[in-house]
Amino acid sequence: MTPTLKQIRHSIRAATCAPEPEVLDALLTAGTLSGARREAIRQQSIDLVERCRAKSHKAGTLDAFLHEFGLSNNEGIALMCLAEALLRVPDEETADRLIAEKIHSGDWGAHKGRSASRFVNASVWGLMLTGRVVGLDEEITGDTASWVRRLVNSLGEPVVRQAMMQAMRIMGSQYVLGRTIEEGLKNGLADNPSGTLFSLDMLGEGARTEADAGRHFDAYTAAIRTISNTENDAPVAGANGISLKLSALHPRYEFRQKRRVMAELLPRVRELALQARKAGLGFTVDAEESDRLDLSMEIFESLARDPELAGWDGLGFVLQAYLKRCHLVADWLIALARETDHSFMVRLVKGAYWDGEIKHAQQQGLADYPVFTRKCHSDVSYQVCAERLLAAQDVIYPQFATHNAYTVALVQELVSEDHAFEFQRLHGMGHLLFDEILEKSPDTTVRVYAPVGNHKDLLPYLVRRLLENGANSSFVNRFLDAEVPTGELLRDPVEEARSQPLGRHPQIPLPGELYAGETSPWPNARGIDLADPLDVANLLDTLVGAAAKPWQSAPIVGGEWLEGKQREIRNPAASDTVVGKVVEADDAAIEQALQRAT
Ligand code: FAD
Repeated sequence: MTPTLKQIRHSIRAATCAPEPEVLDALLTAGTLSGARREAIRQQSIDLVERCRAKSHKAGTLDAFLHEFGLSNNEGIALMCLAEALLRVPDEETADRLIAEKIHSGDWGAHKGRSASRFVNASVWGLMLTGRVVGLDEEITGDTASWVRRLVNSLGEPVVRQAMMQAMRIMGSQYVLGRTIEEGLKNGLADNPSGTLFSLDMLGEGARTEADAGRHFDAYTAAIRTISNTENDAPVAGANGISLKLSALHPRYEFRQKRRVMAELLPRVRELALQARKAGLGFTVDAEESDRLDLSMEIFESLARDPELAGWDGLGFVLQAYLKRCHLVADWLIALARETDHSFMVRLVKGAYWDGEIKHAQQQGLADYPVFTRKCHSDVSYQVCAERLLAAQDVIYPQFATHNAYTVALVQELVSEDHAFEFQRLHGMGHLLFDEILEKSPDTTVRVYAPVGNHKDLLPYLVRRLLENGANSSFVNRFLDAEVPTGELLRDPVEEARSQPLGRHPQIPLPGELYAGETSPWPNARGIDLADPLDVANLLDTLVGAAAKPWQSAPIVGGEWLEGKQREIRNPAASDTVVGKVVEADDAAIEQALQRAT
């Protein structure tokens, strides 16, 4: 029997932190690709990488930057900490101290001249100097490390702070399509082959106040008006679109505030969706942290059931393959589309918040992680989800967002001639890879996800890009590195997953076992996840059960319950509720207790 939407929702919730080996087993069983087809994908991706490596001098700036400054060297980490910290540090003195510490910790000289990208070289020195691309004399190239230290000492941290900010601005211009939608579209059209589609995103996530949310709402409204597609009447899949972050539209977009979110955020999203429909644009809700998923599904379902959005093909959702429940969310989307007579646009990604999800689960002391702990498991999940989306061609228009050549080759192997689908890449990344793909298959649809906005709002986006792509497990980090053999870079994730019998990462302990390796081990405190509907339902049941119980208390002396005058105790948060009754200890009871103690 086909499960109902409600039943699928329940399985999704139950699978949030499911044991990784179990989920992996289910995925490995669900995948239908034979060993021979997987080998063909691998060969295809090796060929693609080799073709790109032959043209590596044309690589995009961000690709080159990540290659040089990943998370595996001190300088990359220092730069990222700085970028992230400069966002938050409120006073200049602290910012300066931080800069001094980070700059002294790096071996900046090691990078000079290594990257073929002029920008990457310049960025190091731009950071140290004035943000301009400068020529360097012998003294600097000879003993760079001490020169940098001397420079910081002589100029002082405040000057370096200004230089850093300026350098961030320069970096920003590489990853943001433009400051305004008009500028973005103009730049996008000039920089990309004709036929490229765009999904525009307004920078500025995580509204902190109602005023922030209002500003973001106005920015999305203006963007929709500007890129309106009413003139050429193209189907939504062939038009530009808009991507929005729900966290930008409400300061309390969290499960604990569900009632408020449904009352306040949903009408805003609905209004923007109606505008997008009128403007002929696709409208995609970006995926954010795992604990927002349930709420985003609730909002998406309301949109899908809205009579004014009926029959529209422009609603888009994002699936994150690194979530253990991703394949179930794919099932839910397909079932929802069929039930509400929609065709959805579904962007399949791996997920941009991996580090944060791991840290959050550890802090909360959750039973397990909501994400996989091994990269190849996310890849297997991506494969299974891609198969499911492609099998539901009647109601799903799949959008495969990746910069990984293996993932691209996987999709190319899975699709047949009558499949409608597209690839998506981020502006500033994956240029080389997709140029190659288009050269061989010019009919492929490629959409560029393009953030628009000013430098002030850029840093959270930039830090996320650096975090997710700077790790040496990331494909782009090693893609163009001729020292990494293609056979090592491009491995069959199914084989890789099977090769590790544990079914999870051996060096990432379960959140509860975080301190099991200490000399005097102790269990990590188990938290209650107030963003997990099932955890919250259990908690509420316990609270209701506890409230229904008639609580009594009285002095117990020598094991004997003493009678006396009872007083009612009321719930301080709801004074008409009597919690229980108490008998206070009187003088006689105290005396009796003291005598026994003596
Ligand atoms: P790969 O190198 O193949 O994969 C890197 C990814 O693998 C990491 O980002 C992480 O997800 C996963 N990973 C890394 N280490 C581990 C590990 N130890 N265990 C398990 N998994 C691991 N992300 C969002 O979250 N929401 C969005 O709305 C979103 N929109 C996007 C739109 C576009 C057009 C693109 C291109 C990306 C988008 N992303 C989004 C980012 C995306 O989720 C990926 O992080 C990014 O594209 C890198 O994946 P990849 O396939 O290119 O590279």
